[in-house]
Amino acid sequence: MKILNYINGSYCEPLSGAWLDNYNPSEGGIYAQIANSNAQDVAKAFEAAKAAFPGWSQTPFEQRSRILLKIADLIEKNLDRLALAESMDNGKPVSLAKKVDIPRASANFRFFGHAITQFASEAHESVGLDTLNFTLRQPIGVVGCISPWNLPLYLFTWKVAPAIAAGNTVVAKPSEITPMTAYLLGEILTEAGLPKGVLNIVQGTGPSAGQAIVEHPGIKAISFTGGTKTGEHLARTAAPLFKKLSLELGGKNPNIIFADCNYEKMLKTTLRSSFANQGQICLCGSRIFVERPLYERFKKDFIAEVEQLNVGHPQQGVDLGAIVSEAHRDKIERYIELAKEEGGTVLTGGNRVMVKGFEKGYYLEPTVIETLDPYCSVNQEEIFGPVVTLMPFESEEEVLRYANSVKYGLSSTLWTSNLDRTLRMSKQLEAGIVWVNTWLNRDLRTPFGGVKASGVGREGGFEALRFFTEAKNVCINYDQ
Ligand code: NAD
Repeated sequence: MKILNYINGSYCEPLSGAWLDNYNPSEGGIYAQIANSNAQDVAKAFEAAKAAFPGWSQTPFEQRSRILLKIADLIEKNLDRLALAESMDNGKPVSLAKKVDIPRASANFRFFGHAITQFASEAHESVGLDTLNFTLRQPIGVVGCISPWNLPLYLFTWKVAPAIAAGNTVVAKPSEITPMTAYLLGEILTEAGLPKGVLNIVQGTGPSAGQAIVEHPGIKAISFTGGTKTGEHLARTAAPLFKKLSLELGGKNPNIIFADCNYEKMLKTTLRSSFANQGQICLCGSRIFVERPLYERFKKDFIAEVEQLNVGHPQQGVDLGAIVSEAHRDKIERYIELAKEEGGTVLTGGNRVMVKGFEKGYYLEPTVIETLDPYCSVNQEEIFGPVVTLMPFESEEEVLRYANSVKYGLSSTLWTSNLDRTLRMSKQLEAGIVWVNTWLNRDLRTPFGGVKASGVGREGGFEALRFFTEAKNVCINYDQ
């Protein structure tokens, strides 16, 4: 099977004729070939996007909205097929793709299809100067969107939907590790009647196709989600070109549990926030801090629950599927070894799982490591797998120090029934999101993004539409 580029409304092969292998992580074999696109393919996609821009940016917002809503409907209609494709490509349980990834991809188009009809800008009357200022928000032109492998269609659409809703045309690249659902989206775009060239999907690696998007002088803004190291590199490339940049990067999120929390709810949610999607969600709570009086009880109950989790082939009704790639599985295993060298104790997990009939798949047990040092590598570096660390704490000040000690600041979770503490800590936690007595609870109108090494800028709601438009002040002087 060939995963092609989608340029100017049609599928096409890469100009170089070069292909990459696409692996099925749950079975360990190659199952498709991906277009290994380069700067020429990006240039071709850019030309298509540039030609489409005048027409699309002039299209009334009601019409743009209608097309986005149609795309949302068609994603819903193709739920089963897309969920299966996502699961095969990524290793995630098909049930998760069906419940979260694909519905959210549809919701992204639906949300921005509606949001664009409500998007407005400001007017400022300068009384005394006899002037009226208004802010004209215009689409930027051709923009670039680059997304990662962990929530493939979910995050791809989170970027492209607001970009086109706002009237831009796009050159977008999904991860070369999970290209399948973005490839399938092409068919849906055509069926929904999206004009040719509005959304062009270029497949290929980061250093080749991705780099070419970031370097292209005509692509005026880049919305990127991925690792912090890649984000640094992107920022260095894009800054001298004065591109608008939105960076959603890595995380090392604390999950802070106070003894006064709703215990059952916390336990159930913590299981999810630790291991959903094999722990490969940037928002997973990978460092669990538990207040001392609750520590031993939580440790015992949590381990018992984790040991009930079922790891296996993603299509067989499991809790955890496969790790996305062999290289990533090996990286996670190195962290588990490092944790032991640093004095950590593996309380449960730590091993590969041999799934009968799929022994070549990349499976790992959900792993809980008790650590003594909040500053050790496994408590500071992003592992991005089914591995959490566990530590007790004595006081609010102490746990805040631990929570904020990392270079990242994406999200944090707080479990407590104390309102004063909630407000105090929400102000002091260095993170773009504070979830209190919940996790991964998303209202798409809210600002989404990180601080510190977790990124620059905000997505979500009108923030995304602001990012994908240029604000121009028009100042009119009038005679009294
Ligand atoms: P990655 O940085 O390796 O790749 C992300 C994307 O960037 C891919 O499409 C890749 O091909 C592309 N890329 C790589 N090098 C490039 C270059 N030189 N120029 C342009 N593009 C390039 O990240 P990943 O391994 O795919 O994803 C995992 C990371 O993403 C984790 O760190 C995770 O925390 C982060 N993430 C963050 C969020 C968030 O919202 N903050 C969400 C999901 C994932």
